[in-house]
Amino acid sequence: MASSSPPSSSANQNTITNPSNLRPTTYDTWCGVAHGCTKKLGLKICGFLQRNNSLEDKSRIVSSFKERQSSKNLLVCENIETESRFRRTETDFSNLYARDLLPAKNGEEPTMQFLLEVVDILMNYVRKTFDRSTKVLDFHHPHQLLEGIEGFNLELSDNPESLEQILVDCRDTLKYGVRTGHPRFFNQLSTGLDMIGLAGEWLTSTANTNMFTYEIAPVFVLMEQITLRKMREIIGWNGKDGDGIFSPGGAISNMYSIMAARYKYFPDVKTKGMAAVPKLIIFTSEHSHYSMKKAGAALGFGTENVILIKCNERGKIIPADLEAKIIESKQKGHVPLYVNATAGTTVYGAFDPIDEIADICEKYNLWLHVDAAWGGGLLMSRRHRHKLNGIERADSVTWNPHKMMGVLLQCSAILLREKVII
Ligand SMILES: *Cc1c(COP(=O)(O)O)cnc(C)c1O
Repeated sequence: MASSSPPSSSANQNTITNPSNLRPTTYDTWCGVAHGCTKKLGLKICGFLQRNNSLEDKSRIVSSFKERQSSKNLLVCENIETESRFRRTETDFSNLYARDLLPAKNGEEPTMQFLLEVVDILMNYVRKTFDRSTKVLDFHHPHQLLEGIEGFNLELSDNPESLEQILVDCRDTLKYGVRTGHPRFFNQLSTGLDMIGLAGEWLTSTANTNMFTYEIAPVFVLMEQITLRKMREIIGWNGKDGDGIFSPGGAISNMYSIMAARYKYFPDVKTKGMAAVPKLIIFTSEHSHYSMKKAGAALGFGTENVILIKCNERGKIIPADLEAKIIESKQKGHVPLYVNATAGTTVYGAFDPIDEIADICEKYNLWLHVDAAWGGGLLMSRRHRHKLNGIERADSVTWNPHKMMGVLLQCSAILLREKVII
């Protein structure tokens, strides 16, 4: 999925032009939901969902677009003046500064010219990104960038920079970076540059709001809830009163899952701290993501209490070794708390046998987490979903749409089967 080409059919382009009349089919509702699930998340999910759009949906979108086009043509005549407002004109940015932009008096024209210039820079970058003949990276050593090759300058000036300098900086920032959407950029986890997602980024940045409360972000807050609910349904927790939150990344999602487990079994930890609980043990495979150990350290478990379970030659957990290590730690007087099964390990891409691990968790009354940061996208594949069989038995799931689903970075969700704490 991550390698599928970016949306290019006319139907897809039309949806960008005309999102407002596309309701309420599966894609539309979903996309509407994804538009604002959280700041910086925005439309990212849409691009992915859009690729899964059925043909029927597409033809409907095309015809509704055509309808609107004809009515729009009439409008264009009336609105020539409005349209010309968005024309780029030759502007000297060397004497313009941030203070000349909105909300400054008469700031509208310079603001528009400045932003159109920025869009031009971004569009050039996007165009080159998909051009195979360009380089993925114009590599320079750190000292070269720091010494200011070709006028590139990262130093923070004490004086205001002209808008011209800021435009040059925008161009340079992209020039010396890695083109992660390039067809020759290969990365095991995330790649691509989704156009709908990009539009969403612009939108959420323009809205520039927080996700604290309904009061400050009414639309985004509702969208987040509905998007998370849909993700829980896809996991298979239908009808349950679950919970979840978008987090800064898979590592943090994994950490939240351990916090939820600890709170569920030992609620006193919240007020009394780790001194009030016995020695708690976390189990995860030797091929699992390093964030499990890191969470063990950060949450006061201690890395020695994050026990690594052996994997077979294909990188999957050996359930018998898990059970043996649970029994061993109980014999030492420790308290097994939590098991992490990985759906798509970071290096091998292995899928732990979730059903067998869930049996063991039920037997010993342990929290089951599935780290599907990478493999979670397969939940939406008819052909590959079976690799995650048993995931509906988990108590929590980490799922990063910014990986296999090609949603723009960062987009990670921690999903909980029951409403616990977060
Ligand atoms: C990538 C990954 C993570 C960490 O996700 P980030 O968003 O990079 O923090 C955790 N677990 C697995 C299995 C991963 O592939």
